[in-house]
Amino acid sequence: MRISIKHILGSLIVASLGAQAAVSVFTCEPEWAALTEAIGGDHVRVVSATHAKQNPHYIRARPSLIAAIRRAELLVCSGADLEVGWLPILLERAPMGIQPGAMGHIMAADYVPMLGVGDSVDRSHGDVHPDGNPHVHLNPHHIIQIARQIQRRLEQIDPDHAGVYAERYTTFEGQWQAAIQRWTIQAAPLRGRSVIVHHQSFDYLLDWLGITTIASLEPVPGLPPTAAHLNTVLKQAKDASVLAILRTPYDPSEASKWMASKTNIPALRLPYTVGGTDASVDLITLFDETIAVLLNHGS
Ligand SMILES: [Zn+2]
Repeated sequence: MRISIKHILGSLIVASLGAQAAVSVFTCEPEWAALTEAIGGDHVRVVSATHAKQNPHYIRARPSLIAAIRRAELLVCSGADLEVGWLPILLERAPMGIQPGAMGHIMAADYVPMLGVGDSVDRSHGDVHPDGNPHVHLNPHHIIQIARQIQRRLEQIDPDHAGVYAERYTTFEGQWQAAIQRWTIQAAPLRGRSVIVHHQSFDYLLDWLGITTIASLEPVPGLPPTAAHLNTVLKQAKDASVLAILRTPYDPSEASKWMASKTNIPALRLPYTVGGTDASVDLITLFDETIAVLLNHGS
């Protein structure tokens, strides 16, 4: 069949209407972007405010982010003050539908049991986790809770595709539960081990895997390591059998490397989130890679 210009124009218009119909989603971190795409598929258009090499505690509320959040119909962030330095500034320019309390506003920390609540003695000392640890995504059971919230909200925002979101959620949940079983078996040798961390970025992962944190290189979450504090940690490290010194792709490496050189404990950079290493292309490979790195270096 000959395709006329009219046909081509017609399909372009349909395609562009289709693209416009996608739900516009603003996520604060790559893990929530990946999860939203897993549930929303072609029906969502997702922007992530940060990438894996950026510390989500500290980014600038730059104009391109303001432009992106103004279009958003759904917001998915970690919450619990992780984004307190920049998200409130963006929200001043954001639509009503994604403001706190609105249907299009998801803070993951609101839907999962928090660790580290009450640990902060005095927030005036610069603790960036004053209300508990906000790095909630590395317990895979939490991912399911947030996936469910994303599905529910997408169904309300875009009821025409409710069936698609429900089906994609069910598929994701099945794959994810199978992956949790696999990871639990693979990571069993890590149970009971201990680690040192740069920042308390991995508390939920370590709690899930049964690994103890004996010390952080930061004296208080958010404060850079000091010589005095590192020497205290060094003494603790020498008295314990430590698996590894863990940091994210965005943490500075100097303190980890110094501690590794003094103790022969391996300093490991875990992917932390989707995109943190070349192999961590989605949430499944993020956990695959994280467990593989711990097992490969931890014997
Ligand atoms: Zn933190």
